[in-house]
Amino acid sequence: MTCDAGQNSPAAVLFDMDGTLVDSEKLWSVALDDYAKHRGGALTEATREAMVGSNMTRSMRMLLADVGIPDSDAEVDAASQWVAARMVELFELGLPWRPGGPEALRGARSLGIPTALVTSTIRSLTEKALETLGRDSFDVTVCGDEVGGNNKPHPEPYLKAARLLGVDPAECVAIEDSPTGVASAEAAGCLVIAIPCEVPLQPGPHRVLRDSLEDVDFAALGELFTRAA
Ligand SMILES: [Mg+2]
Repeated sequence: MTCDAGQNSPAAVLFDMDGTLVDSEKLWSVALDDYAKHRGGALTEATREAMVGSNMTRSMRMLLADVGIPDSDAEVDAASQWVAARMVELFELGLPWRPGGPEALRGARSLGIPTALVTSTIRSLTEKALETLGRDSFDVTVCGDEVGGNNKPHPEPYLKAARLLGVDPAECVAIEDSPTGVASAEAAGCLVIAIPCEVPLQPGPHRVLRDSLEDVDFAALGELFTRAA
């Protein structure tokens, strides 16, 4: 693994959104619980945990299975629209940052490192979140409904972000909070800074575990490649 963009800068930093930059996984839990109740059921903790980092369609199929409703395409579409609308309401009440989130985006920007947002969340809802994150914070944004159904843990979201930036994914740092997201970024060949939020993460050969974004030194990201090599 190499890092050519100076000794201390990766080719790009690719940020996950939910649970990494913003503390939105708790809001997802509210919206998903509300929908389960709306349909007369309940979402189990195990199913909720398995959804973290996943895309809307897959999550809705799991939710419908949990509440005992056949997951027809029409039911999945209806559930997706209901949950997305509820999420917009919750985002409007206030989308909390994860600790160090604003500083991380500013840090990458001030060092001139290209950045991408790589999220499983659909574009319409991501646009709402970008009102908090700042549209100028990213050179490119890749959403869950823009990867041809090849959602995380498939590598395509990270590969697409690297393609759009014109960089080698092996020279990029991805920052993720979920096992699903870490698997996607690693499969794309990125070096991953893994910062758990709702679900524990295990050590691995292409990942560096941190407790918080506040512990990431953006001026010295290149050194992580040396250490992980
Ligand atoms: Mg996430």
